[in-house]
Amino acid sequence: MTMSTMQTPQNGQASAAAPRGLSILGATGSVGTQTLEVVRLFPDRFDVRALTCGRNVERLAEQIREFRPAQVAVGAPERAEALKQELSPDGPEVQIQTGTDGLCAAATRPDVDVVMGAVVGFAGLRPVLAALQAGKQVALANKETLVVGGTLVDQALADGDGELLPVDSEHSAIFQCMAGEAERRVEEVVLTASGGPFWDRPADSFADVTVSEALDHPNWSMGPKITIDSATMMNKGLEVIEAKWLFDLAVDQIEVLVHPQSIVHSMVAFDDGAVKAQLGVPDMKVPIQYALSHPARWPAPHERLDWSSLSRLDFQRPDDEKFPCLRLAYEALEAGGTAPAVLNAANEVAVQRFLDEDIGFADIPRAVEAVLERQPLQSEPSLEGLVRADARARERTEELALPVRN
Ligand code: NAD
Ligand code: MG
Repeated sequence: MTMSTMQTPQNGQASAAAPRGLSILGATGSVGTQTLEVVRLFPDRFDVRALTCGRNVERLAEQIREFRPAQVAVGAPERAEALKQELSPDGPEVQIQTGTDGLCAAATRPDVDVVMGAVVGFAGLRPVLAALQAGKQVALANKETLVVGGTLVDQALADGDGELLPVDSEHSAIFQCMAGEAERRVEEVVLTASGGPFWDRPADSFADVTVSEALDHPNWSMGPKITIDSATMMNKGLEVIEAKWLFDLAVDQIEVLVHPQSIVHSMVAFDDGAVKAQLGVPDMKVPIQYALSHPARWPAPHERLDWSSLSRLDFQRPDDEKFPCLRLAYEALEAGGTAPAVLNAANEVAVQRFLDEDIGFADIPRAVEAVLERQPLQSEPSLEGLVRADARARERTEELALPVRN
């Protein structure tokens, strides 16, 4: 996938241009609420036209009162009534839709220019595809969309006027390092990983990891699913697949290094031996804002890097024995077809089962590996084929008795 505008960022001045119509899918989550924080910093640049949530209608109602969108969608249809109650009797007029169709409608409104894709998981795939097919600019946080449907996203970009901008901090870093460079000059990219809360914890104690320990990420404050993915390092595996699609890379051009300080957000090595890195404090508002301001930069009061407090930057190879999820993701990427969709679905269900205290932390990679081994793969799936593979992998992972002995 070649991103359309690899220009050198200009120094952004407040423009007199008309505000851009914005739709935020997953507005009530961690990335969604931070997107609205960026909107608050630049109120003249955006008109919030649509917002969506899964179940959190209480927060959505607050956002409706503040940002006055024309339309909202609630992923869980049974929560729509609760939203109406939250808004009555004096709430603003707003069109309320539900389910995937509602999210797709919010993503494709004619008065929307840019869509923030910040739904978590497979649920984001259809709305993001719909937005690209409708020619929208999509700022994409929802990495699972690319993991599952990278081929379809590529197709939608090739067929229409849609545009994709990365939000994930590592991919934003690569995108920023790529500004002004030719993609073919890239030798490799290095995705940095924090290593999560258990990088130094002995693997033989992983069976005892509690949910609250796994939710306690050392550097980033994020939604529960990605926080668990960071602890298992599946997050980095999903990001390897995300990088492949965003930057049109071969598998062996994508390397992962554990960098516990999370200051270097990622690096690009070029074929003349030069390496560019993008650095900053771990704050998602910076990559969120860059996806919305690109190719400009807008001056903002986000926290600055304090060089004097940085005594060292460490880099280490990941440990595949201790964190098998990264290896499983590379294998799924190599296998192609429905394999990444199966990996993703099994992981989504296994993470939920762990959060529900139904399985142990060490069972997450076991479940993913067992389901990947058992599910026959299809090589060139359509969207419907991916939806079926996702559903089947979910059933298998839900039914899986753990621990699995292979
Ligand atoms: P989150 O759980 O905080 O928020 C998810 C949002 O999606 C919420 O608005 C929720 O209501 C909505 N949602 C959940 N399930 C849904 C469904 N089935 N249908 C419709 N809507 C649904 O998640 P997050 O941490 O904001 O992450 C969002 C995405 O961004 C994920 O793909 C994650 O990997 C990615 N990402 C997040 C961060 C971060 O700092 N949080 C960083 C990089 C990438
Ligand atoms: Mg990331």
